[in-house]
Amino acid sequence: MSLLVVGSVALDSVETPFGSNSDALGGSAVYFSYAASILHPVQVVGVVGSDFPQEPLDELAARSVDLSGVERREGESFRWKGKYSYDLQNRETLDTRLGVFADFEPRIPEAFRDAKLVFLGNIDPELQLAVLDQIHEPTLVACDTMNYWISSKRDTLLELMRRIDVLLVNDAEARELSGDWNVYRAARWIVDAGPRMVVIKQGGFGAVLYEGGRLFYIPAYPLDDVFDPTGAGDSFAGGFMGHLARTDDLSPDNLRRAMVYGSAMGSFAVERFSVQRFTEIGPAEVTARVREFSELVRFDIEPEHAHELG
Ligand code: AMP
Repeated sequence: MSLLVVGSVALDSVETPFGSNSDALGGSAVYFSYAASILHPVQVVGVVGSDFPQEPLDELAARSVDLSGVERREGESFRWKGKYSYDLQNRETLDTRLGVFADFEPRIPEAFRDAKLVFLGNIDPELQLAVLDQIHEPTLVACDTMNYWISSKRDTLLELMRRIDVLLVNDAEARELSGDWNVYRAARWIVDAGPRMVVIKQGGFGAVLYEGGRLFYIPAYPLDDVFDPTGAGDSFAGGFMGHLARTDDLSPDNLRRAMVYGSAMGSFAVERFSVQRFTEIGPAEVTARVREFSELVRFDIEPEHAHELG
């Protein structure tokens, strides 16, 4: 099943308690592509400025990522600067310089318009709608957003929600969108507003899938060291969608497996700065981590103990 992502291609400068970097490869479409392409080829639509280095784009292209929808425009590339708190739970945006991203009008190349699985990375919901207008008959559309759009373009976002299948947000975004502090009630509110399902990510505490009236919970992989949380959400989305694209199966059981691939990819993303960890791993490492999840959450209810409870 063909897989398309539309999102930011960025140069990130990140400060964590463990170090900092500047102008490193980042952006929602980039993290998504690095994670998903381990599982399935990816088509990307985005924009970079004239100052964007060619080498990282060539490296991505070498990983079955089709960048023919990434335009190079005269001007500066999108730059984002963020700083994490000591426990890595909170992030402050220090600077966002839109550059050529300010006038980004996603044009989906003819060859990508038959995409079956579509991930709309965190961009203006008006642009996300404009992308959907260009796709012929997608089977499943997933979408990310952020607090900025929830408060500034709420009506457009609500319109978009009626046209998508999966909303992937973090817990703060789910609360802000629904106006409910309880994530489970927020999940129901979101599904009532349009999408068939919602994935609520809770950082180091895992992620919840609400679909068909059922909840499924996957923990975050227990890492001894988290280095840089940037891109965890987009990498989660890459694992989730990459697994669905590879298996061509949208059954409830397979959606649950997709959550495991999402959590696994999110955990790889945070082990190094930028996308570095993805350059060190392949399908074997992903499979091994997915197997570890199965052990991490497996338990049996022994009949003799179960009946003791009456
Ligand atoms: P995540 O940590 O999964 O939320 O994704 C972080 C990535 O999102 C970084 O690589 C940034 O370049 C990118 N990003 C940050 N702010 C924005 C924005 N306003 N629009 C698009 N992408 C952004």
